[in-house]
Amino acid sequence: MTSVGSVTRQIAALEISSKPNTTRNAPPPLQKKPSQNTGNVSRLLTKFAAPNPFTATHSKTASTSSIPTKQISRPPSPAKPAPSGQAPKQPSIDIGKYDGGFELENETRGEKVFGEAAEELALDSSVSRYYPTREWHLTDFDIGRPLGKGKFGRVYMVRTKTEPHYVVALKCLYKSEIIQSRVEKQIRREIEIQQNLRHPNILRMYGYFHDEKRIFLMLEFAGKGELYKQLTKYGCFTERRSSRYIDQMADALIYLHSKHVIHRDIKPENLLLGINGELKIGDFGWSVHAPSNRRTTLCGTLDYLPPEMVENREHSEKVDYWALGVLTYEFINGAPPFEDLTGYNATYKRIAKVDLKIPPKVSPEARDLIVRLLQYDPEKRLALTEVRKHPWILKYKHKTSTSSPS
Ligand code: ATP
Ligand code: MG
Repeated sequence: MTSVGSVTRQIAALEISSKPNTTRNAPPPLQKKPSQNTGNVSRLLTKFAAPNPFTATHSKTASTSSIPTKQISRPPSPAKPAPSGQAPKQPSIDIGKYDGGFELENETRGEKVFGEAAEELALDSSVSRYYPTREWHLTDFDIGRPLGKGKFGRVYMVRTKTEPHYVVALKCLYKSEIIQSRVEKQIRREIEIQQNLRHPNILRMYGYFHDEKRIFLMLEFAGKGELYKQLTKYGCFTERRSSRYIDQMADALIYLHSKHVIHRDIKPENLLLGINGELKIGDFGWSVHAPSNRRTTLCGTLDYLPPEMVENREHSEKVDYWALGVLTYEFINGAPPFEDLTGYNATYKRIAKVDLKIPPKVSPEARDLIVRLLQYDPEKRLALTEVRKHPWILKYKHKTSTSSPS
């Protein structure tokens, strides 16, 4: 019987970018055989209900490969039509039923934008400097079920109309609302950053395009949805499962920091799960979602902020080390360590004092890791490479053979 792993390997061989892979030290481009591969893959995906033809490879190189500083630009190439004489292949991945939401909403939401801001938001990955894609339009997709609602618009599961019928999450952002929030520059920068990142635990962005009112982001479809929902469902995670997630987070953060990207907004709400249950960072580095305005306005809590941020001091990538400690605690205990339901000020004080109380049920190894990460002095926090070698991580790593946390 074909395993999910082998499906993942096959779908990993598909690539959406029209560019040749010219990255230094990168493996040679994978050979695309859409007609042979995709039919097979689609069948297998349906069989395993794993509609994610973009799953990144889980290779060691993924976390260390670098973003090329220069790539040869190519004009976008249109998708290949089916060879004449052959019946077009029917896509077999079920993307669910479309509720017409994009069009309905577009009639009532947002306005056309003009001037400098409009130029700033004329985002199109087909003219991107590093990884130009083919040109995309909304009409290139069959739209399926709604996946969720974001701050600036809706997210749908979609499939490209042309072969090989890629399935992605299409996220819509209304330009006028971005402008109202005065985040057009940040949005532009962050979209460009995310499209250049390649890591198995960072949600891939395959491309982006825009129309008069909206920007559309083509995102890797996170087959198992939001991690936050799982955490709410189970209350907390086993230490085994938590340990695997923290190892994956540490790996992703090492990669991000090597690209000089500080996340600054790590928390369960910003994490998604891939089809194999692997953790995927989404929403990373969005200044618009910077914790100081986001968590406070939306949830009334500062839970993941480190002392240097609540005290308004300068901060570095070490803020993410702290947040990793908070995440470890929350995974195991179901609530963040400095949560204080009496309010904002109480949480603030507990963070500034590092008022940490670890419940007795927490294993000594997990306790040790949490304490080493939740250090007031950023320089004293355990390095991420050391996190990955910590006994609490190694304890479960050797015993787990599958990629799906139990
Ligand atoms: P918010 O500020 O509410 O977090 P947002 O603008 O960050 O909104 P997202 O969190 O990215 O928007 O998307 C809203 C919801 O859509 C998510 O909570 C999730 O359920 C779903 N979603 C977004 N992206 C994906 C994806 N790539 N795969 C699967 N589901 C997704
Ligand atoms: Mg979000």
